[in-house]
Parts: sequence; structure tokens; C-alpha cells
Amino acid sequence: MAKKHLYIIVFIVAIIGLSFIQYQYFQIGLNLAGVQFNQKIGETVKEIKEDLSQRNELTYLVGTAISKEDLNFKLSLDSLQDASTYFMDDFLRQKLLQKGVKIDFSFNIHGRDSTLYMQSKKVFLDSEKLLKYPIVLEGYLPDLMKSRVVLELQFQNVNRYFLSQLNGLTIPSIIFIVMIIVVILWVYRAFYLQNNLITTTNEFINNLTHELKTPVFSIGVATKILEEKSHEDQKPLISLIRVQVDKLKSQIDKVLELGIIEEKKGFVKREEFDLNPVLSSICANFKQQAALNNFIFKSQIEEASFMILGDAYHIENAINSLLDNASKYSDDHIDIVFLAFKDGKQLVIEISDKGIGIEAHDQKKIFDKYYRISDGDVHTVKGYGLGLHYVKRIVHLHKGSIEVRSKQNEGSTFIIKLPLL
Ligand code: ADP
Repeated sequence: MAKKHLYIIVFIVAIIGLSFIQYQYFQIGLNLAGVQFNQKIGETVKEIKEDLSQRNELTYLVGTAISKEDLNFKLSLDSLQDASTYFMDDFLRQKLLQKGVKIDFSFNIHGRDSTLYMQSKKVFLDSEKLLKYPIVLEGYLPDLMKSRVVLELQFQNVNRYFLSQLNGLTIPSIIFIVMIIVVILWVYRAFYLQNNLITTTNEFINNLTHELKTPVFSIGVATKILEEKSHEDQKPLISLIRVQVDKLKSQIDKVLELGIIEEKKGFVKREEFDLNPVLSSICANFKQQAALNNFIFKSQIEEASFMILGDAYHIENAINSLLDNASKYSDDHIDIVFLAFKDGKQLVIEISDKGIGIEAHDQKKIFDKYYRISDGDVHTVKGYGLGLHYVKRIVHLHKGSIEVRSKQNEGSTFIIKLPLL
């Protein structure tokens, strides 16, 4: 749970960080666009000044219009002014376009005392944010007017213009950030749903195997009793049932053991419970088995409560697995001892047999997945090498430890230590 929250926090921090960095880049971009704009306008202004300093078609037309001189040709002053405004507008637009500046503008030409000589068709209201570039003209026009002539270029909403230039960067980065958020949320949702499914499946497997084990165990005991009391001609049939019941039991165990291999979430519960009655019932059942199969089983459980945090069902299975091994890996003479006692804040469980024992170099490996001792006739005993791996995982999931002490041909002792609450 804590891990899940940590991931969410890291994700949120990363997205906020990314957005902040994008915003900083955006600001830098805006500033750069401003600098670039000023630079381009500066160059344009220089060219405009140069072009307008000479007498040419445009300056002549403008000069005539603003000086309101008598006309040599038959045109009214108004239409002459209209035409020169139009040409001036066109000239300025071309100049700006040549520098790659594609923005709405207005202009006016005024004299020293702000006398307005000429005004573009488009007029920006002064209240709006206006950027003004006054160009003091030289040469032909001021000479003609015998006064200062200023051409004022005006731009409006330059920030909006800069933004439109940055759109190629800001819009994709917003889209990408949104895409990341959407994908992560989608993955998170899928993961969450899957996890729920896994937990439900694990609970189902645990319940199912639990429900199957009890009847299978009872059938096993009943068949054993029947076998002893039956007539000779019935014996083969009954022993067939017993063999098949044993197989079924081991298959059920495998389902459980396989669960731990994949370390599925929710496989092992975490509940507070007293392990003492669980151990007593395991021993009572195993005693029955010992009586039926004519082997020795002694148990000694300290009379105290063994409160632990974990999953009673899996601990029961793990211990049964060790008891099964103790009987499986003993030759004809089966003699098993079960001990459970408190040692400080620990519960110690010991399962000893006087069986075939395990060589020193195998002792470390027997807890590995799929490991089986291959020499001798051990393989006459069925198994997949998963039992001890399962036991070890379960013990570790309960924050405990397991060790083995063994001598070949003398027997083995498996010692489990579990922390008590
Ligand atoms: P399986 O019993 O299915 O082979 P386990 O993981 O339970 O798998 O055991 C691994 C191996 O450890 C076994 O093949 C066996 O050789 C050895 N072993 C386990 N328990 C004992 C025991 N009590 N005495 C001797 N050998 C054992």
C-alpha cells in the first residue's frame, strides 16, 4: 500500500516538475521571440529609412500628398492621399514580410509638432497595448517639408503574435504531457484491476484446496481402515482407491506450492492468530496416520499461546510438508518427533526423523526450487522438488528462519523459528 502511494506521489511530482520545466522553456521562448522580433524590426527600420531617404516613385507620391502641393496631373488631393497611403502600406508590409515578420500593423506620418500628414487605414485604439517604432526620416521628405518628418510604425498584441509563433512547441508539449498522464492512469487502472483479480484468484485457490484437503484426508483414513478389515479379494480394489487418493492429495499440495513460486500477491494472509491449536491439530492428524501406517510419532507442544502474525493455512501446509518428507525419506523404520516451544520472543518448531539423512553439500540446496537429491534410490519417492522451497518461502514470509541439521543414514532435523507477537 505504502509503495503504491509512493508511486503516485513520484508520478505527481514528476508531472508537476515536467510542466514547470515546460513553462520555464515557454517563458524563455517568449523572451527569445521578443528579442528576435526587435532585431528584425531594427533591420527593417534601417531599410525603410534608407529607401524613403531618396526620391523615388513612392516618396514622390507621398511627398506630393503630404505637402499638398498643386498637382501637375488631374487627380484630386483625396484620391492622391488614398493612393499614397495604400502604396506606403504595401511598401511597409513587403519590408516586414521580407524579414519574416507577418503581423498586423498601422502607421502614420507626422511632423515636428505632431501634425498628422498621413494615417493608415487601419488604426489601433491607443488604449490597447501598442508597440510603437518612430522612424525619423531623412533626405528627400524632410527636405521637401523643410521640417522633421516621422514615420511611426505601430504593432498591437505582440505577445499574442509571439505565442502564435511558439504554438508549434507549446501545443505538442501539452499534448505529450496529457498523453503521459492518460497512459499512466490507464496502466495504473489496468494494474489495479489485475491485482484485484489476482487476489481473488489466490483466495479462491486457497479456499478450494482447503475444501478439497479435508474430504481427501477423510477418504484416505477410511480407506486405510477398510483395507485392514477387508477380505483378500477386495484388497486390490481398496488399495487402488488409496493410491489414487494419495495422488490426489499430492496434486492438491502442488497447486498450493506452485502458488508460492509465482509469489502472487495476496497468497499469504496477515492475521493475528494462536498457532498452538493449529499445531495440536496437525499432530493429532499425523498421529492417526502414524497409527494406521504403523510408524512412530511423538509430539511435544509447550502449553502456551503462540500468537503470530500470518496465515494459519499455509503454516499448516508447510509443517505437513515437513512431516510428509520425514516419513517419505525414512526407510522401513519411521520414527518422527515433533517439538514446539517458546524461546524468548521466538517460537521454535523442530521436526526430526531417523531417516536416510541428507549429505552436507545437499543441505544448502534442498530448499532451492525444483531441487531433488538424485543419487541412490531416492527417486522411488514421488515429488517435484517444490515442497521445501514452499516451506522456506512461507517461513520467510512470516519473517522466520529455517535450518536443517542432518547426517546421512542417521536422520534429519528441520528447525523453524517464527517471531511471536
Ligand atoms: P520433494 O520431496 O518433492 O522431492 P522437497 O523440496 O520436499 O521436494 O525436498 C527436496 C529434496 O530434499 C528431496 O528430494 C529429498 O531428497 C530431500 N529431503 C527432504 N526432506 C528430507 C528428509 N526429511 N530426509 C532426507 N531427505 C530429505
